[in-house]
Amino acid sequence: MSLRIVLLGPPGAGKGTHAKILSERHSIPHISTGDLLRSQIQKGTALGKRAKSFIDSGKLVPDELVVEMVSERLQSDDVRNGFILDGFPRTVEQAESLEAFLKQARKPLDFALEFGTSERVVIDRLSGRRACPNCGANYHIRNIPPKREGICDVCGSSLVQRKDDTPETIRKRLEVYQKQTAPLIEFYGTRNLLKVVNGDLEIEPLQAELARELQVR
Ligand code: ADP
Ligand code: ZN
Repeated sequence: MSLRIVLLGPPGAGKGTHAKILSERHSIPHISTGDLLRSQIQKGTALGKRAKSFIDSGKLVPDELVVEMVSERLQSDDVRNGFILDGFPRTVEQAESLEAFLKQARKPLDFALEFGTSERVVIDRLSGRRACPNCGANYHIRNIPPKREGICDVCGSSLVQRKDDTPETIRKRLEVYQKQTAPLIEFYGTRNLLKVVNGDLEIEPLQAELARELQVR
């Protein structure tokens, strides 16, 4: 069965963590625009060079760059049975582009899943987040600690704090979320495509909630 969903919610809501789990369970790709952009930066591509300063300062990368990157990704073979979009759309313009793209492909969205999350939880998660620069695995110094402090369980590389996970940039990202991304909750609400889950929950109870939501579609 196919599944086409987008995840909404502030940075730190746990979208990436849960997208990975759902992606394995449903055998559909997890498409994270943040991951795609960071990999472009690492490879030093033209897109990566244009995106870097926006990302490091907590701003959004311009719509046209992101829309093109995502449209390309959505045309790959592995998207046949669906996708989990994480971090896209992030503006009403991006949501409209996605809607037009999927309409043309006759593959409409099943729904948008909002991770409703309080600011206190988000700030705590982001400031404790550590990432593996080599394989992309994510940790949290208290909630999801690696087996050896500072070392990736998967590949043994040294963990780093993302440059945009500093207090000042976190505040900026939350502000950008409220202003530019939160309106998408209404966008999908008026289309009857919105489901809301409690992003403040720990990983396991939230997985249980998600499993229930995904059954009754
Ligand atoms: P988070 O959700 O924790 O903020 P992401 O990894 O999703 O982290 O995104 C990191 C950064 O990448 C964003 O702050 C933004 O600069 C850029 N970015 C990711 N997705 C988009 C998008 N759809 N549109 C514009 N910029 C984006
Ligand atoms: Zn790793």
